[in-house]
Amino acid sequence: MKDKAAQLTLDEWDIRYRELCRHGLREPDYGGSLRRHVDEGGDRRLLRLRMDNSEAALRLWNLLLSEEDRLHRARAEGKYLVGTMKDLGTVPVMAYALDDTVAFYPDGAWWTPCLMEHTEGLLALADQLGVDDSFCPVRAMLAAFVNGNHFPIPDTVVCSVGATCDDMSAIAQRLDELGFPVFWWEIPHRRVADADEPSVELPGGSRVPVAQVDFVRGELNRVRRHLETGTGQSLDDARLAAGIRRANQVRRLLGQLRRFAYLGDPSPMPALEMMIAEILSIHFCSDWAETVAVVEDLLAEVRRRLIANEGSRPAGAARVYWINPPADLRLMNLLEEAGGRLCGTDYMIAHALDPIPEDMPPLEALARMALADPMVGSSAERADRIAREAARFDAEAVIVSRISGASHCATEGLAIGRIVERRLGIPVLDLEVPPVLDAMEPTIRTRLEALVETVRSGRRA
Ligand code: SF4
Repeated sequence: MKDKAAQLTLDEWDIRYRELCRHGLREPDYGGSLRRHVDEGGDRRLLRLRMDNSEAALRLWNLLLSEEDRLHRARAEGKYLVGTMKDLGTVPVMAYALDDTVAFYPDGAWWTPCLMEHTEGLLALADQLGVDDSFCPVRAMLAAFVNGNHFPIPDTVVCSVGATCDDMSAIAQRLDELGFPVFWWEIPHRRVADADEPSVELPGGSRVPVAQVDFVRGELNRVRRHLETGTGQSLDDARLAAGIRRANQVRRLLGQLRRFAYLGDPSPMPALEMMIAEILSIHFCSDWAETVAVVEDLLAEVRRRLIANEGSRPAGAARVYWINPPADLRLMNLLEEAGGRLCGTDYMIAHALDPIPEDMPPLEALARMALADPMVGSSAERADRIAREAARFDAEAVIVSRISGASHCATEGLAIGRIVERRLGIPVLDLEVPPVLDAMEPTIRTRLEALVETVRSGRRA
């Protein structure tokens, strides 16, 4: 059943869901009403969000919000669970190349205090464990390991370290101390090759010394052996290459979705759903096949809306490029309510969206991809890539969304903002939001409206 694009409250989605069912809605096994995630799962934040009204969006939300159930089922079925931390897109490609193996990011628990509006008590428990609010909300992950109320405890925990933010290093070390052994692998700070040093290009366009790729390949080979030991399977090059092809299928679909959604006007898919879709790239929400199906559905809906010249907001909204994922999902709604729209993003996962090279040995390709992580290089390099993409997507403004307590963006956000402003000459808004922004909503709304007004007056000039 196709209806005009709209953004619905949860109450409105209840009505919409009943209508869809009456018209013969067919859903996967994790389908159902969105309401149940509040009633049974405690995801109270849905009561404050506006969600896209398409069947594709319903499937996306259900995939996202059913992940813990899926992980518990995988545990009950005897699958090998890999908790992978920080690399955001590398180790899952390896893990999903194995049979009966599921990789997920316990770091994803950083959104739980937002989704459950602090009723789950994770941040308070993290305080008791000695990890207070001088750390970013990823500290919720530590508490989720200790209380065991969210994801199942993985069979192994694999974490990248080296060119990693202080928060993640310290929290992962604490996790190890608390009896959850961590398998560490090192990712070095990406550097520019010396004049006489051989270098190679990475996905995304940076160049690094060959020696750094060799080093990371060696580290990933240790991860490979670790996964082989844990699962009792061989993770040979043929399997890894197949895993890369599957990851690339998701990345190519997301690449098309981003192009259509961010260039189309009116915006054919809201910011919130686009953010969730992009984040599926890092570990496929624990189900690769469903991720492919969900992104294909979103792409079909976006195409349909582009042909029908349809969006949930009017054409001509201020085109905003967004940097860093917001701790509170509600912020994406506020952007649109203020008259803005997304036209590009850097959620710190650019390397999980770039296709992985398929014309070289798979571990070499994965090493290059891991080194392309925007968070392992300089802020200037990250800003350069952001400025290039923002220009390609005709951005009229940039928002740097900072995360309370996060060491990675204490000063990086400002530095990137300055570089982008200088290069593109467009306004940059720096916003810091906590996991639940309600107390700050009037201020944030005013700042977003002022940004949109600045864009509009720039158009008139
Ligand atoms: S400081 Fe930033 S990069 Fe590090 S865990 Fe927190 S949000 Fe992620």
